[in-house]
Formats: sequence, structure tokens, C-alpha cells
Amino acid sequence: MAQLLEGKLIAEKIKEELKSQIAALKRKPVLASILIGENAGSVSYANSQVSTAEALGVTYQLHKLSSDTTQEQLAEFIGKLNSDSSVNGIILQMPLPEQLDYKKSVSLIKPEKDVEGVHPQNMGKIICASANVVPCTANAVMELLNFTKADLYGKEAVIVGHSGIVGKPLALLLLEKFATVTVCHIATSKANKLKEHVARADVLIVATGKPELIKGSWIKEGAIVIDVGISRVGKKLVGDVEFEVAKERASFITPVPGGVGPLTVAMLMRNLLACVRAQL
Ligand code: NAP
Repeated sequence: MAQLLEGKLIAEKIKEELKSQIAALKRKPVLASILIGENAGSVSYANSQVSTAEALGVTYQLHKLSSDTTQEQLAEFIGKLNSDSSVNGIILQMPLPEQLDYKKSVSLIKPEKDVEGVHPQNMGKIICASANVVPCTANAVMELLNFTKADLYGKEAVIVGHSGIVGKPLALLLLEKFATVTVCHIATSKANKLKEHVARADVLIVATGKPELIKGSWIKEGAIVIDVGISRVGKKLVGDVEFEVAKERASFITPVPGGVGPLTVAMLMRNLLACVRAQL
């Protein structure tokens, strides 16, 4: 029976450390958040950032822009925050309305203020192992792996999902630890090879947003399972892994909710502190 990796408890400890480091700064850090439109998911994520910011002594500016904001208007707004020396970090809440281009928009944020670590320059630095900020969810997964104290050297790490904020940066972070990394995606499933890759994994990380895509019976005995996915099915929040069966085979497993999610906000605040220090 697996040990539960409760992100909430780990996040509380990290937030306590961050709080005292923030209190020692000469002035309160300022995090500017841009929320475009009224997407329920982004409003709820922004609200969780507001309460964490308050608890840690961070000034959180919530800038609400209308859902018909154009690319030019967004560029101008980001430009103002970039040149405002009182602002230490900028976060662009996802998803954006369809007239706005995500890649174009995040690349407008000054890399020094990119608290989510999603600017191409910061992403590129992960390859050189010299990134000051790393995408929050990928970093949250690494923090959970760190908690297990598992030695990743030579281990088979299988990632399912190759998004820019989770799978791709994670592959590089795991390579830094000398894990043997496999990244699966939709073509892996279409080629009927997903089960075979999952079954080899000593460390399995799943981030697809497809409820219970990974069957519990596929999981190697003793594997570490990190489930990033979160979807609403009826009234329940469900992960990408069939939890009830998987927990009988894994050595460690994240619950959904309460696994990766709570750590993501803590990683955001850690990135903010890294931005502040780089700006001193
Ligand atoms: P995304 O950009 O939609 O990426 C999903 C990935 O899964 C893609 O690489 C996709 O491959 C792959 N995929 C989809 N169906 C698949 C299948 N049947 N077999 C194999 N691969 C498949 O999503 P994301 O932003 O990475 O988020 C993924 C999940 O994590 C979502 O549930 C999201 O809510 C959750 N999430 C949670 C947190 C947190 O803090 N807890 C943070 C971020 C995301 P293709 O691109 O090749 O189709």
C-alpha cells in the first residue's frame, strides 16, 4: 500500500521558510497578476494565489482585463508592468481568450519578472541547468520526488504528457538527476504503446487531463506515481491515474486533489523570491 504524497503538508513547510525569507527583505515583493475574462478555473487559481500571497507577506495586484482585450492592448499593458520598478513578478493567468496568442504573450514579459518560468529565455536556461526560475508545476513534481528521498540515478522515469509547462521541462529536470527519461504523448497512445512504457516506470508522472487514462494494473510494483492531472467528473475531482488500484502497487502516490496542486502555488512564490533577489 503506497505512502500518500500530500503536497499540502510539504507546501506548508516550504511556505513557512519563504515567509521568513520574505520578511527579511527590505520591502514587500509585488506580484502583478493579469486575468483576462472570467474563466472559472483561472479565477479560482488567482484566488488561491491571493490568499497565499497575503499569508507570505507578498503584495498581490490583480489586474482584470476584459475578455475582448486585443494582442496590442495586452502588449501595452505588459510593457507598463515591465517598466514599473515596483513590480517584481508578472503572471499571465491561463487560459487566454482565443484572440490572444499564449506564446507571443508570455514572451513579452521581461524574463527577470517571469515568475512562472515560461518565457522562452527562462525555458532555454533549463537546458543549460542555469535557470533562475522553473515552471511551477514541473518544480512541484521535483519537490515531491525530493520528498520521497528516492535516488533517481539510473531509474526509469516515464512522463505522460509533453506540454511546455509540465512534461517538457520535467524531462530536462529529470535528466539532470541522471534518470533515464521517456516522454509519452498522444502518438504513444495511438501506437498502443502507453501501457508498455508505463509498466517499466520506476517513476511515473502523468499530466494529460484525461481522467483515469492510466490503469492501476499497469503500474510497476513499488513505483513512485505523481498524478498532475485534475478533471471534474460529475461532482468529483479525478486524476489521470486510476488511484484506488494504483495505490495498492505504488510505493508513493499523490492524491487528487491535494497532491501536486497545493505545491504549485508555493513554487510560484519561490520563483517570485528568486526574481526579487535577481533584481537586487
Ligand atoms: P495540456 O497542455 O493539454 O497537455 C496535455 C498533454 O497530454 C499533451 O502533451 C497531450 O499530448 C497529452 N495527452 C493527451 N491525451 C493523451 C493520451 N490519450 N495519451 C497520451 N498522452 C495524451 O495540459 P497541461 O497544461 O500539461 O495539463 C495537464 C493536466 O494537468 C490537466 O488536467 C491540468 O488541469 C493539470 N494541471 C495541474 C496543475 C496543478 O498544479 N495541479 C498544473 C498544471 C496542469 P498531445 O499534445 O500530443 O496531444
